[in-house]
Amino acid sequence: LARRLLIRPHILPFSHSRASSGLTRHKYDVIVVGGGHAGTEAAAAAARVGAETLLITQKIQTIGALSCNPSLGGVGKGQLVREVDALDGLMGRAGDWAGVHFSMLNHSKGPAVWGPRAQLDRRRYREFIQSELLSLPRLTVVEGSVEKMLVSEPHPDKPGKHRVTGVRMAGMDEAILCSSVVLTTGTFLSGSLFMGQTTSPGGRMGDPPSCAGLSHTLREVLGLTVGRLRTGTPPRIVKETVDLSLATVQPPDQRPTPFSYINTRTRCPPEEQLPCYLTHTTPGVERVVRESLHLNCHIQEDAKGPRYCPSIESRVMRFPGRRHQVWLEPEGLTSDLLYPQGLSMTMPPDVQLRLLREIPALRKAEMRTPGYGVQYDFVCPTQLFPSLQLKNTQGLFLAGQINGTTGYEEAAAQGLWAGVNAGRLAASLPLLSLSRTESYIGVLIDDLVSRGVTEPYRMFTSRAEFRTSLRPDNADLRLTPKGFEEAGCVSAERYGEALRVREGLKGGLAALQSVCMSSTRWRERMALTCISETKSAAMSAEDILKYKDISFEMLASAIPEVFSPYLEFAHRLKIEVLYYSHCERQKREMGRIQEEESLLLPQDLDYLSLPASLSQEVREILDRVRPDTLGAATRLPGMTPAAIVHLLNYVTKAP
Ligand code: FAD
Repeated sequence: LARRLLIRPHILPFSHSRASSGLTRHKYDVIVVGGGHAGTEAAAAAARVGAETLLITQKIQTIGALSCNPSLGGVGKGQLVREVDALDGLMGRAGDWAGVHFSMLNHSKGPAVWGPRAQLDRRRYREFIQSELLSLPRLTVVEGSVEKMLVSEPHPDKPGKHRVTGVRMAGMDEAILCSSVVLTTGTFLSGSLFMGQTTSPGGRMGDPPSCAGLSHTLREVLGLTVGRLRTGTPPRIVKETVDLSLATVQPPDQRPTPFSYINTRTRCPPEEQLPCYLTHTTPGVERVVRESLHLNCHIQEDAKGPRYCPSIESRVMRFPGRRHQVWLEPEGLTSDLLYPQGLSMTMPPDVQLRLLREIPALRKAEMRTPGYGVQYDFVCPTQLFPSLQLKNTQGLFLAGQINGTTGYEEAAAQGLWAGVNAGRLAASLPLLSLSRTESYIGVLIDDLVSRGVTEPYRMFTSRAEFRTSLRPDNADLRLTPKGFEEAGCVSAERYGEALRVREGLKGGLAALQSVCMSSTRWRERMALTCISETKSAAMSAEDILKYKDISFEMLASAIPEVFSPYLEFAHRLKIEVLYYSHCERQKREMGRIQEEESLLLPQDLDYLSLPASLSQEVREILDRVRPDTLGAATRLPGMTPAAIVHLLNYVTKAP
């Protein structure tokens, strides 16, 4: 009971006496430091794999806080949310609970690159995450700040290899012992906040930075390479002071697509969802930015900011004279604020207000809180294994913004995987990794650990070579079985549902392949005009379903005895047939790579003049290392599976 009480956030916050009598008497399997998006998924995943887990975070009431934009998903990021959900994480369900505007981005393109996205109600999102964590068995949540990581001295036989033994919280003399630690300090590690010419210590407005002792452990005790990055957030605007008639309304989708595979609908029905609005910057905005550069110390700093979510200052400097989009987004169902996406800025507050008022719709806008910037330490992620465990410290896992990424989704994805592995290590089970060919999470982690980062890393579909297989519609088929059978982080109910869907899709595809007739008969049977009169060969129902205007429902009404049992999977079957042959070819290519592992690569191969299908970066790596075999080439940092396919085809002269 005492352990359950500790996780009642508002009733029993951390106190020293309780901590020293309870926490320090116990050895935890896993301690997670930080209750942001990485930390919450890590703690939940570790508990799901069976580890006795302790989550220590500075403030329990900020668990699940959205530090910046109140939105989830998008192109590439939406795929990550679906994968986190397929592995039974919290984020997708929280998004369905808190979403107030759902839209499928990239809808005019192929389903492989669709991006599920939602605008969120901040309060609902936080409440959902907190209540989920509170109800998890084997998880204790405590409020406080970790100031020191405890590690054993390196073993004489293994120089430079430490082992984590526990943590110490600020104001506590005794250590809390554990087998693994997941460190998820986000923007808080040696964090500094910037506004105008003012700088103050902080991890986020209103929150102090991580204790200095933590940075000291990472840099001085463990000898890790640590860098510095920055990001920023826009001012928040009072909605009723905005002239929305001067902006373009962007309604939500009429049929919202939930993030979670176990949800069939979103909590907020379509008719209650809120619109977003689109407006643009003016030359006046650019003028204010230029006039105030000398008052803006954040952008004068060396640390790199997010290239793909830049501040208005960076946008203006990089693309002078251009009109930039500004999205006015709701902060929640009952919130009176709008979030101006695209206007992240760090000049003094009076200048921020002047800048806002250069935009016609914001001419009379009132600012509730000004924008600001944050700079923080990150650990160069090439020092990690693909399990997200540090190479030089057994039991210490890092996840989230501390690894140089930006975004809630990237943080959650790493957190989940680090939590799984931290739990497995504590149980002396082998650590697991996810490959680039099976998931975006695998792409994310592989990019981080093999290439490192030079600027905040965010996910895009273009980073995934196998994106036609790694679609947002099929993350459950790709990951849920592995999550249950190997990782142990998925519930039996979810696993059972994924198997049922897999069987349904298999049956539906077999049915589509089994019905075959001449194009004339198809035209007659379904009154089709899209099939050319001149087409004479027999066509299967699978071929017919590939036509843009044909839906599975149309086939089911024409031949109900064959297709109606699979109507539940209509939408997914349509996508499956579009990509089926392409994905099968990719699978064959991957199989070939595995078979040809020992293929000798010619020693005189001129890698630098290989075709442009191999990137310059890959050609240079191959030229520098000159691997003996194809297998050795696959293991080179920075090498992608797609590059290996091209190399194999080139060497074997395959088409
Ligand atoms: P966080 O969400 O930062 O959570 C870290 C948690 O660790 C916090 O709860 C903190 O209290 C806790 N903590 C830290 N140190 C300790 C300690 N020693 N002991 C106990 N607890 C500790 N993302 C974008 O994608 N685009 C943007 O434009 C963008 N702009 C941002 C602007 C600002 C000002 C901020 C603050 C963040 C911005 N983000 C942006 C980043 C986004 O918030 C993060 O990517 C995401 O929250 C990272 O999740 P995380 O779990 O790694 O860390």
